[in-house]
Amino acid sequence: MTLTEEIAALKAREKAVILAHYYVPDEVQAIADHVGDSFYLAKAAAATDAQTIVFCGVHFMGESAKILNPARRVLMPDLSADCAMAHMADASQIEALRGQVKDLAVVCYINSTAELKCLADVCVTSSNAVAIVRSLPQKNILFIPDQNLGGFVARQVPEKTFYFSGGYCPVHACLLAEDVLAEKRAHPHAAVAVHPECTPEVRAAADFVGSTAEIVGYARGRGEGEMIVGTEPGVLWALRRQCPRMTFYPVTPQCADMKRNTLEGVRGCLESGRGEIVMDEALMRGARISLERMLALAK
Ligand code: SF4
Repeated sequence: MTLTEEIAALKAREKAVILAHYYVPDEVQAIADHVGDSFYLAKAAAATDAQTIVFCGVHFMGESAKILNPARRVLMPDLSADCAMAHMADASQIEALRGQVKDLAVVCYINSTAELKCLADVCVTSSNAVAIVRSLPQKNILFIPDQNLGGFVARQVPEKTFYFSGGYCPVHACLLAEDVLAEKRAHPHAAVAVHPECTPEVRAAADFVGSTAEIVGYARGRGEGEMIVGTEPGVLWALRRQCPRMTFYPVTPQCADMKRNTLEGVRGCLESGRGEIVMDEALMRGARISLERMLALAK
């Protein structure tokens, strides 16, 4: 039996569904039931009636799946796969600002720990952040933890005042505008599409800024030609399958944590039940409020 066949048999035995983020290795995306960005996968996790969810991504994604569908067992191929940005805000900073600024909403990017989600009024993803922030009644917004996505939202919602916790994605933030411009000089006819986790200078050099799902949609809309891709290069698997007449040039480094998801890891967690997300009930209850509010507002 091949590794893929073993996984299929174990998946049937465990009545499991496999969810994979666009950034995990190609071969893991290939065996998944659902591949997408954080927003799509959160909805898929909330809606599934499979007994077990195998979440191929990083730790906060497994946590969100467990919080949104607590009756399911959530397994991760490697529990140590974490997102550095998910920790880049702290409770004292949030509570201090709540004390100082009236009419404040704490908006938490889904790329965050469950502890941070507990302190937020609402969660957002890069797909829905602009629409959700615009719809909030509060005039003042503390956007945690990603200052780059927060800055992108702030530019599009100028009627509100923004505060930031100073976090950033180390993968997207290390892409420099000069790297993009050099690639553009090498491929002058290529469109430039980047993720809002990139810096303002990189976003200013782009033709399109959007979530990974929106970048895939943008490429599909073009259908042919060349595109410089300013997000984690795992998304090229979906781009090349969905846009076979296009040529893509990745300029962002890999996220080492996303690459911890392997086929061996998927088989291992299904076989033995290791890698289970286990969470404190009170923590789940607290974090569920801001996650469910996001799903309701995004409808
Ligand atoms: S790419 Fe950045 S935001 Fe996404 S999981 Fe990796 S470190 Fe976190």
